[in-house]
Parts: sequence; C-alpha cells; structure tokens
Amino acid sequence: MDSRFSRAWVEVDLDALVANAQTLISRSGKPLLPMVKADGYGLGAVRVCRALQPLKPWAFGVAALSEAEELRAAGIETRILIFTPVLPDQFEDVRRLRVVPTLGQPELIKAWVNSGGGAWHLAIDTGMHRAGIEWWRVNDVVELVRAHPPQGAFTHLHSADANDGSMALQQQRFVDAVGQLPARPATLHVENSPGLERQAPSPWDVVRPGVFLYGVGGGEGSNLSPKPVAHLRARIVELHEVRAGEGVSYGGTWRPPEPRRVATLSVGYGDGYRRAFSNCGYVLLNGKRAPVVGRVTMDMTVIDVTDVPCATGDVATLIGTAGDDQVDINRLSEDASLLAYEVLTGLKLRAPRIYVGADA
Ligand SMILES: *Cc1c(COP(=O)(O)O)cnc(C)c1O
Repeated sequence: MDSRFSRAWVEVDLDALVANAQTLISRSGKPLLPMVKADGYGLGAVRVCRALQPLKPWAFGVAALSEAEELRAAGIETRILIFTPVLPDQFEDVRRLRVVPTLGQPELIKAWVNSGGGAWHLAIDTGMHRAGIEWWRVNDVVELVRAHPPQGAFTHLHSADANDGSMALQQQRFVDAVGQLPARPATLHVENSPGLERQAPSPWDVVRPGVFLYGVGGGEGSNLSPKPVAHLRARIVELHEVRAGEGVSYGGTWRPPEPRRVATLSVGYGDGYRRAFSNCGYVLLNGKRAPVVGRVTMDMTVIDVTDVPCATGDVATLIGTAGDDQVDINRLSEDASLLAYEVLTGLKLRAPRIYVGADA
C-alpha cells in the first residue's frame, strides 16, 4: 500500500483550482494575478502555479523572497510580484530572482532607484493602514514617479467581504490618488477574492485573487461559489465501545448518557485538523455523517459511529467532498469561529499532499 495513504492526507484537486480561476476570469473579464503566498495557501505553490500556467496569468503574487526563489528554482518564468514590503538589504536578491517589488515609501522608492531600479509597482494605501503610501500623501511621491514611472499601481481592500460601503470608498480614494500621478501607470489592480465576488466586471487591469482559487468564499451576498480544492482524509485505526457516562479524549468533554460506538481517526491538529473542531466538526464516512466527539488531539480524533457501519482502514473525509456530500470548509470554519483562510493554510504540516487533476 502507498504509504502516503497510511494515516492522513490532503487531496488537492487541481482541476477544481483551474475551474475556480476560470470562473474569476470570466466574471472579471481580466487576466489574473493569482496570489500564491504561504505556499499557495498551504496547497503547494509550485503545483498551483504549474496548474494555472495554461491560463496565462499576468503575474504570480508572493509575500516572501523565499517563495519567489522556490518558484524560480522550479522553472517558473512568469512575472512575480512581492506584496510584503522588501527592505534595501534584499534588493540584490529581488533582482537576482527577477521579482517586481511593490513600494510605497518615498525613501524605499529612492533606494530602489539608486540601487539600479527596474520594474516596480506603487502601493497606495486607501484605508487599511498596513503598507503603501496613504492616498492623501501621494503628492510626496509624484516627482519620483515622474522620473521613474512604475509599471503598475494598486491598493488592497480591507473589508470587501462586508457590505459596508468601504470598497466603494477605497476605490474612490484610489482613483483620486492615481489621478494625481503624472501619468496613469499601465497596470492598475485592486480586487482580492471578496472584492471580485462583489464587483463585476472589473474596472481595473488585472485582478488579484487568492483564497477563492483554493475553494474558500461564496459567502453571503455573493453569487459565486468556488469548487472545493482541498480534501482532508484520514483512516480509521481503532473502534471502541464507550460505556454510558464515560468520557472521551482529553478532559472527557463528551460523555454519552447511553453506550456508543466510536472510531479513532489518525488525524489531529498536528495535521492541521484544528482543535476548535472538538465536539463541533463532523466527517463523511461510508455515505453517512459522523460527528467529532471529545477533543481533537495532536495525532488522533474520535468520531461517533454508532449509526455508521465501518471498519478499521476505512477512509473518512474531514474537509471537502466524498460522494455527493461535503464538509464545506467555509461552514466548518465558521461553526468553529475560525477563519477559513487559517484552516486552509494550516493544512500543511504532516499530512502529505496528493495531487489529482490538471498536471497531477
Ligand atoms: C493576500 C492578498 C490578496 C488575495 O487576498 P484573498 O482574500 O485571499 O483573495 C490580494 N492582494 C494582496 C496585497 C494580498 O496580500
């Protein structure tokens, strides 16, 4: 037996990833700048980039130079933008890796130009106060921009998942800020995944989705829903009878009043199946649903299988689809008061990734 399937694994459906990308291309009418930071949101940046390559992305977005290094080492030649500010002592590596920096501080732009220059994007802050030149301070970079025009300019939306008017306000500030520049940079970009769900077609030149590509999104107020990409599966390693009144797992937080049959799965928070799913998640098993009972531990998770015929070795699905049923990562995370982004990027520790579809 293939040892990758011996305990717990994450199946990554590259066809679903590509389908989600196509959904966003047709919705926005614009090329993608897929965000592949944090190792492709935990699903493997190199495989994600290779699968998306046939869609001719305008660039890939990373957060760390080590991520760009990994993509270049794998032979990916597409343009790469880095969205976390880089400091001057990293400019040499930025150039070596042919990465396009996003700059928003006058001093940093000067340092970039003085160290040899090259393509860069102007980061404009329109209300997030994290990175970039504030929209009301753009005048401070006008002369630099005139002398060394950026290839593009962008802003980042802070609350596009909320229907609070902030997206319109941020875009208005962006329009005003760009209007103060001596010339319109060729490539303007604004929308992240929630922004794309809220606005179509895109009024900008390229779009910058991350999480939707990987199967997270489609919440309230959206008429798009992504196909699930990550499927967490694990095997039953033991079956037990629990007597009435006995407690299951650490702290004995689940204590059935009548005898129950439980199964132990070889997966836990050491694999990214979060402790917050204790007594809250459920799994798909042999065409039925079985609830997680007691606390999720580092290596094992117990489920109540009293109503589900099963045997050791059977495969349970903790996140994603099995047959016609689904554990939706969006719902599961919400029920556990977690952000689906965190759950997704957390699925990367010990469970190996198994790729299916596209170039797998
Ligand atoms: C992460 C990130 C995105 C993508 O955000 P999602 O919500 O995952 O779509 C877009 N732009 C920037 C600058 C980011 O840091």
